[in-house]
Amino acid sequence: MYSTLERFLKYVTYDTQSVDRAETVPSSPGQLALAKALGEELKALGLQDVQVTEQAYVTAALPSNVKNPEKKKKVPAVGFVAHMDTATEVTGKDVKPRVVKNYDGGDIVLNEGGGGEKIVLSPKDFPYLADYKGQDIVVTDGTTLLGADNKAGIAEIVGGVDYLLQHPEIEHGDVKIAFTPDEEVGHLAKLLDIEKFGADFAYTLDGGPVGEACYENFNAANAVVTIKGRAVHPGKAKGLMLNAVTMGQELNALFPPAETPETTEGYEGYYHCLSFQGTTEGAVLKYILRDHDALRFQERKKFMEKAVGWMKDKYGEDRFSLDMKDQYRNMADKVKGNEHIVETALEAMRELGIEPDIIPMRGGTDGAALSWRGLVTPNLFTGGHNYHGRFEFIPVPSMEKATAMMLKILELYVRKA
Ligand SMILES: [Zn+2]
Repeated sequence: MYSTLERFLKYVTYDTQSVDRAETVPSSPGQLALAKALGEELKALGLQDVQVTEQAYVTAALPSNVKNPEKKKKVPAVGFVAHMDTATEVTGKDVKPRVVKNYDGGDIVLNEGGGGEKIVLSPKDFPYLADYKGQDIVVTDGTTLLGADNKAGIAEIVGGVDYLLQHPEIEHGDVKIAFTPDEEVGHLAKLLDIEKFGADFAYTLDGGPVGEACYENFNAANAVVTIKGRAVHPGKAKGLMLNAVTMGQELNALFPPAETPETTEGYEGYYHCLSFQGTTEGAVLKYILRDHDALRFQERKKFMEKAVGWMKDKYGEDRFSLDMKDQYRNMADKVKGNEHIVETALEAMRELGIEPDIIPMRGGTDGAALSWRGLVTPNLFTGGHNYHGRFEFIPVPSMEKATAMMLKILELYVRKA
C-alpha cells in the first residue's frame, strides 16, 4: 500500500555497517553511497531542499499544502529522522533479504548451511514470531543482519512522503526528513544543523515492534581509570611491589554487585566495567554509568569519584587517575512542557488500533541527543525484531503500520490547528 517494502529491499543491499572509533564521518564509505542514492530518490520524488552532505547527512522537505492561510501558520513543521548505518556486531555486507510469504507459523530455514548446520529462525527461540502467522515477513539468509535497524525507518518515511506526494488532496503541514550516519557508533546526529532543518520537533522511527514508543532513556557517562603499579622482581617484592592488577580488582570490588547490566532492568541504573586490561606495572579499567533519574545519575558519578578517591588515599594520589565524561542525557526532561509531541504520537497509534507500548529505553538514541540540542525527538517503532543479528526480521504489515502512524501524526496536527 505504501511502497515501503520495495524501498526497504533496495536499501538493505547497501553495505552501511558503521565502524567504531573511525576518524571520519561517515565511518564507512557505503553510508555515503546510500546517502547519495537517497538524495537522488528524494529529488526524483519531488521533495524540496534535498541536501546530501559529504558526511552522509540527507535532508529534504515537503512543504505544507494547508489551504487556509490562518490554519497553515498554526500547523507545526514535523521532522522524521532515521539512521542509515547498521550495527557493528554482524556484517551488513551482501545482505540477501528474503520475503517469506504468508508465514505458516513454523520454523523458517534461513540457510541450509551447505553441509554444515542449518540456520533456523524458530518461534521456539523467538515466541513472538508466531504472532505474525499469515503475514509476509522479511528475513535474512542467516549470514548477515537484515538492517531493518534502521533502514526500515528510512523506507517507512520515504514511503510516507511518497504517499503524500501522490495524494495532494491530503492536507499536511511542513514535513522535514533527515537520514543520518553512524548512529550505532554513538555519533548522535551531531552534524545535523537543527536550525536549517527547520522542524519544530521530530520523531526518530528507530524502535522495535509495532506500538513501541520511547521518550525516556538513560543518562550516560563513561569513565576510564588508569592505575600505575610498581613492578619489582617477584623474588624481592615484599613490601615493595604494587600490583596494578590487584589494585584494579580492589577498585572494582567497591561497586555494588547488584547494580550491573546483568542484574538490573526497567528504571534500575548500573555501573558496568566494560574492560579491564593490565599488568603489574599498569592497568586500565573502563566503565559506563547509566541511570534514568538525573539525581541518581549524579550520585553514581560521585560514587565513582569516591571509589577512586578511596583508592588514592590508600595507595597514593598519583597511582590512580580518573577520566569521566558525560555521553548523553535522558530526553524526558526535554519532553516536559512539550507533552503534545508524545501524546499526539500515542493518539495516532490508538486511532490506528495500535496499543502503545511505552518503554524506558535502556540506552540512548539520536533523538535524546537532538532533544538536548533543542529539537525534541521521541523515538517510535519501525516494526522489526532481533536487531543487530542474523535473526533480525520485519513483518511487511508492521512497516506499513509505521508509515500509517507517520501520516496519522501529520493528519492530527492539521486537525488540531
Ligand atoms: Zn537503530
